[in-house]
Amino acid sequence: MDKNIQMVDLKIQYQNIEEEIDTAIKDVLTGAHYINGPQVNEFETNLGSFLGDVKVVGCANGTDALQIAFMALGLKPGDEVIVPSFTYVATAEVIGLLGLIPVMVDVDPFTFNITAELIEPAITSKTKAIVPVHLFGQCADMEPIIELAKKHGLKIVEDTAQALSAVYTFSDGRSLKAGTMGDIGCTSFFPSKNLGCFGDGGALYTNDKLLAEQIKMVANHGQRKKYYHEVLGINSRLDTLQAAILNVKLPYLKSYSEDREKAASFYDKGLQDIGGITLPVRSPKSSHVFHQYTLRVANGKRDELQQFLKNQGIPSMIYYPLPLFEQEAFKNIGRVVGKQDITISLCKEVLSLPIHPEITQETQEYIINQIKTFFNG
Ligand SMILES: *Cc1c(COP(=O)(O)O)cnc(C)c1O
Repeated sequence: MDKNIQMVDLKIQYQNIEEEIDTAIKDVLTGAHYINGPQVNEFETNLGSFLGDVKVVGCANGTDALQIAFMALGLKPGDEVIVPSFTYVATAEVIGLLGLIPVMVDVDPFTFNITAELIEPAITSKTKAIVPVHLFGQCADMEPIIELAKKHGLKIVEDTAQALSAVYTFSDGRSLKAGTMGDIGCTSFFPSKNLGCFGDGGALYTNDKLLAEQIKMVANHGQRKKYYHEVLGINSRLDTLQAAILNVKLPYLKSYSEDREKAASFYDKGLQDIGGITLPVRSPKSSHVFHQYTLRVANGKRDELQQFLKNQGIPSMIYYPLPLFEQEAFKNIGRVVGKQDITISLCKEVLSLPIHPEITQETQEYIINQIKTFFNG
């Protein structure tokens, strides 16, 4: 058994498309347009059509994308933004940095995402935006969230760093990709994301042309015309080199997602009869691109299982061990609304197993058998 099991295997993914990647990189090196080279615009166009004819603006990383989104929407210090308590810190960090107030709400026990029912009691006269995070690769239930946002005049910024290419289906049968349903979608091309580059990268998308202009301006020192600065902006660019790599990888994203889904189904089948764990629940309204395959391990056994797997050469990760509101950095920032039972229990129970497009059934069988051994002896 190959004991070099990884959460994601970036080396194999590169080797499978090595020639194409090397050529694309060489083109950037010889073209020498290292900043804002033609590959950046090309990628923005390619990703825009992949997502269904939306405007895409590249930036330096997913965290910047979120910051640029709130700046482009013109949010002001003291404005409230509703976020899930159970998420990666980046979502709420930039809200705090901008002097906005993150208002944290609990999540759904099945999808681990926020819902309209959980958001509604958190809305006040200061609320300006909602940030659904499509966690682990599955869309939040967006239709009721969009209705709620309309009713209260709120903006929606989707954090789709983990769900690029997931598809949500509305009750009238319309389908839209994650990140294209609200006002702005934000994503990350961090190497281990479903579409990863070879360093940092990110992007924002929107259906609104004027908003796309605003986003571009904020990401480029607040200027439309060089050396004429209309607003305070930041400097956040997608490198030409990363854009060239992403242009090569984007056509593979569909098959990457399909392979992740196949691997998830294989785990589902192998792990279905084990008591004491809950398998990922698939929402009937969203496809799942399985950025993570996350178990819930009951009865305080999570850490023990993780150690047992580690001893067998199997890595696993705890995304996330602490609710936002228990993080030291958020002690004096933001507000918590409603009971937080689900978030608190998820932080004690979640365990993400290795999953990536290149994982073999042999590796998965080994992992499944070790989990069975742990529970059944
Ligand atoms: C990865 C991630 C981000 C941030 O992306 P970076 O490119 O690392 O800045 C934001 N939100 C979520 C949910 C993420 O998983």
